[in-house]
Amino acid sequence: MNTEFNLNELKAADRLPSPSGAALAIMQLAQQNDATVQQVSQLVKVDPALSGRILRFANSAAFGARRPIVDVQTAIMMMGMQTVRNFALSLSLIGNNSKGHCPGFDYEAYWSRSLAISVSIAAITAREITVVPAESFTLGLLSDIGSLALATAWSEIYGECLSAAEGEQLLALESERFAIDHNALSLMLLADWGFPAVFLDALKLSFEKKVAGLNRTAHFARQLIFARLIGNYCVADEARRAVLLPDLTAEAGLYAMDEPALLTFIDEIIELWHEWGKLIDVKTDPRQSLLKTVAALESILPGLDLLLVDDDPMMLARLSKQLAAAGNQVAVCRNGESALKYIIEHRPQLVITDWRMKPMDGLALCKALRASAFGKNIYLIMLTSTEDEDALVEAFDAGIDDYVTKPISLRVLLARLRAGQRIIMLQNELEKESRDIQRYTAELAAANRRLKSMANTDVLTGLPNRRYALNRLEQEAATALRSNQPLSVLMMDLDHFKSVNDTLGHDVGDQVLVHVANLMRETVRTSDIVCRLGGEEFLIITPNTDGATALLLAERIRNSIEQNQPEGIVLRYPVTVSIGVAGSMGAKPSWKELMKRSDDALYLVKQGNRNGVQLAGE
Ligand code: GH3
Ligand code: MG
Ligand code: MG
Repeated sequence: MNTEFNLNELKAADRLPSPSGAALAIMQLAQQNDATVQQVSQLVKVDPALSGRILRFANSAAFGARRPIVDVQTAIMMMGMQTVRNFALSLSLIGNNSKGHCPGFDYEAYWSRSLAISVSIAAITAREITVVPAESFTLGLLSDIGSLALATAWSEIYGECLSAAEGEQLLALESERFAIDHNALSLMLLADWGFPAVFLDALKLSFEKKVAGLNRTAHFARQLIFARLIGNYCVADEARRAVLLPDLTAEAGLYAMDEPALLTFIDEIIELWHEWGKLIDVKTDPRQSLLKTVAALESILPGLDLLLVDDDPMMLARLSKQLAAAGNQVAVCRNGESALKYIIEHRPQLVITDWRMKPMDGLALCKALRASAFGKNIYLIMLTSTEDEDALVEAFDAGIDDYVTKPISLRVLLARLRAGQRIIMLQNELEKESRDIQRYTAELAAANRRLKSMANTDVLTGLPNRRYALNRLEQEAATALRSNQPLSVLMMDLDHFKSVNDTLGHDVGDQVLVHVANLMRETVRTSDIVCRLGGEEFLIITPNTDGATALLLAERIRNSIEQNQPEGIVLRYPVTVSIGVAGSMGAKPSWKELMKRSDDALYLVKQGNRNGVQLAGE
């Protein structure tokens, strides 16, 4: 997880959408105060495609030209340098980013919707001028650039975010993963590209969808919200458009447009959208993948998988058609019994059921669901007609989540569905969270196990380390005492090891240590525990072994090390070890005493000729 977002880092790493060379040159030139129209037009003319598009732009309805403009210089003069500059920027971004690697991010869909918003805002600002329509056009085109930037900078992870996001979660997911969401990033990039602050303030307000006030910024922000709604409508299919229309009509009221006027307005926009699409190579035909990307970006709730239960075939047909048109997946059943069967097999997210049916009515269906594991959490809406208060209370007691009274108003039913959907999504989130927690706990336990074993292991030889050795010895001493068994330890130290390091270097010294450790592992019995205490000192714990037997083992080890010199290393002295042995029986010394006595015995060997073994006295 990132904790801080850094735009410059991403820019430096070339991981953001960036304008092409020609656009960049135009942007830089137009930024200078003393740049002339002639200079800019010279740069534009270098790129014939850009020249053509600028001419078309200058002559377009969005710009509102009165007479045909035929040369680039006039076009630039009429449009204004900033507009030309931003237009060039937009075109170069489209050109460079019409494809990409983010799974689940439909790049064509993205531009298609951006263009729809762009054409919409130009048309809206042409009706009621808050900013110059041609300028609002380029702002509209880039108003969602943050999501493209996320898809570009973090293709894989952003793809995961898009597929994980439901409804309103996307922004939160983005903040969690990237320390910034696509709206904030859009504002940052546009600021970076030199878009004026008034534009950015309005765009920010429009993202927050809480616009108050009557100033120009607030007015433009409202227009941007309207433009986005129309943009979404443009890219939607028929069923989705029906869902979007109510919000759109409400917003159009602010512009004194009734529904027919709105639809005419939208028709004009859609036509312009197609025209513009052809002009700047952006696809404008609605497709399913496009809807998915847009739904994720716009936080539109996805459709529900729902079951409709009613014994009235007319009612079933009408409602199911309307609910499907609103973007839901609808199945139908004629009574409670068949509904129960369907639910067991298909697990819909939500059930809308009539009350009075035979053989099993809605109330009985609800009770049966609530009594079962699979039906406990299914959201259930009851359709009621003449039921009194007592009956309603009974229904809630039986476990219904909500009810809608007949005759059914589609608007009310859809509103109740949205409320239900929010609950279902919360529930899913909770379930996912608890699954995540389970997974994290398992991962944590595994990590702890690894840490623990790391803390107890010597990295060089892979043998248990001093910490482990002392703990284990203490345990073995306690076991020996309880079970009245002998226990011995071997304290071992390599002879003249310092000279290995001094003459051949530390690396060779390490190799010798590993060699000796491996030999010991091979020579001891399975019940013996070989540990590296530190440096060139080792401790071997031999449970259920008396001193005399341990001494034999010590001699076997000493001999093995003497006989098996490391290959490929020429040493001044052969590798040998000195071993002190201490055993306990009867007297039961503590583990500390065992250590000390074996150490004393080792000292005796070192005092003599080394390369020997010595049993400590009792
Ligand atoms: P003695 O026969 O009296 O035990 O002589 P010695 O040289 O083995 O004993 P001393 O304790 O003086 O030196 C131990 C040396 O072991 C010192 C240090 O350089 C070396 N040593 C300790 N740990 C490591 C290690 O992890 N790798 C290597 N290569 N050398 C180590
Ligand atoms: Mg030594
Ligand atoms: Mg030593």
